[in-house]
Amino acid sequence: MHDFHYQGREMWCEETPVAEIAAAVGTPVYIYSHRTLRNHFRVFDDAFGAVPHITCFAAKANSNIAILRIFIREGGGVDIVSGGELYRALRAGVDPRKVVYSGVGKRVEEIEYALETGILMFNVESFQELEAIDACAGRLKKKAGVALRVNPDVDPETHPYISTGLKENKFGINVEESRQAYLQARRCRNLDLKGISCHIGSQLTKISPFIDALDRLKDLLRALRTAGIDIRYLDLGGGLGITYKDETPPHPSEYADAIIEAARDISCTFIFEPGRVIVGNAGILVATVLYTKENEEKRFIVVDAGMNDLVRPSLYQSYHHIQQVRKSRRREIVADVVGPICESGDYLARERRLPGFARGDLMAVMSAGAYGFTMSSNYNSRPRAAEVLVMGDRYHVIRKREELRELIRGEKIPDVLKGKAKTILRRAYV
Ligand SMILES: *Cc1c(COP(=O)(O)O)cnc(C)c1O
Repeated sequence: MHDFHYQGREMWCEETPVAEIAAAVGTPVYIYSHRTLRNHFRVFDDAFGAVPHITCFAAKANSNIAILRIFIREGGGVDIVSGGELYRALRAGVDPRKVVYSGVGKRVEEIEYALETGILMFNVESFQELEAIDACAGRLKKKAGVALRVNPDVDPETHPYISTGLKENKFGINVEESRQAYLQARRCRNLDLKGISCHIGSQLTKISPFIDALDRLKDLLRALRTAGIDIRYLDLGGGLGITYKDETPPHPSEYADAIIEAARDISCTFIFEPGRVIVGNAGILVATVLYTKENEEKRFIVVDAGMNDLVRPSLYQSYHHIQQVRKSRRREIVADVVGPICESGDYLARERRLPGFARGDLMAVMSAGAYGFTMSSNYNSRPRAAEVLVMGDRYHVIRKREELRELIRGEKIPDVLKGKAKTILRRAYV
């Protein structure tokens, strides 16, 4: 469910016309519905109301500090994967005791930053990382809360790029080795072995892989408690899918009920790290049609948003609905929607049946709230898009459009290159 809908022929976000925002802020622009974001968070968090838990929103899905703030105000924590995301979460006002830190490549500086901040725990992905955290904690005279990220070797049945819980993936520690890893970790004096974690992939549309992973974690939990290791947190990661096209993922309450049922014989605090399911359908990317053209083979709709703004179609061949911001009565066409980037892979939709878009029309790329802006770049020296948060009949720019001078921030021409530039033109054909 989301709060983008038509009134007559106009697309609205909550009680605000999308075209009004585009006119004022320009395009490309990401537009998010506050109501959808808050409701999605509440639905997910309430679904686990029967068990002790912390919902730690996965910041990498959408890390704008205004968005993080919405979930923090609802009592949520944050799942981070870098020092940069920790900085954002803190600026958004998170309670560090609700922060979990995942990721295979944590740098020493990042570990120190997290330790000084007092986060709940690190989800540790290798033996060497365990040693690095122990050493940092020793130097800072702190105790580091840790969970080992276990790779349960279950197939999430999703796109290979977003599958993370198979042996062939780089993530986590093999489930067979994990008991040994905990016993080894117990010898590290600066670690507090608080939890077990896993995250098996993203955009899952079935419950069974989650339950298979949970079963493996439960076995480990029992073995560790028997060995005298006091595991208090079970972190089941994120990964619940959403409807982009015709997928039918379980509702968060079905997912929660299945987990609560499967876990009724254990007592611990659960941690969840949902990203996409909270923000995915709560945001759209609005672009302007620059040109249309056709050849014998194809029609193209060229818009002012490209793979630098939304890379998912190019990277994962993922599907996003394309809609008109103002419905026209033009004939339907089959076309590719492409961006201005100089790459053939720069597209938002391929061979798609679409309403007849014309030059100057506004286009809404739906379900762009997750892994949209956060994966955007300046490729082709394109300033990054603005972000807007709609709240009822008002809206707020929560990130202004980048300016040209920001593109070269930090760049410098060395003095030796500063002399006069050659002015002679090479003799050309005349
Ligand atoms: C990406 C990621 C998430 C969020 O995944 P979603 O599919 O967006 O819910 C959660 N935890 C970890 C460790 C991740 O890497």
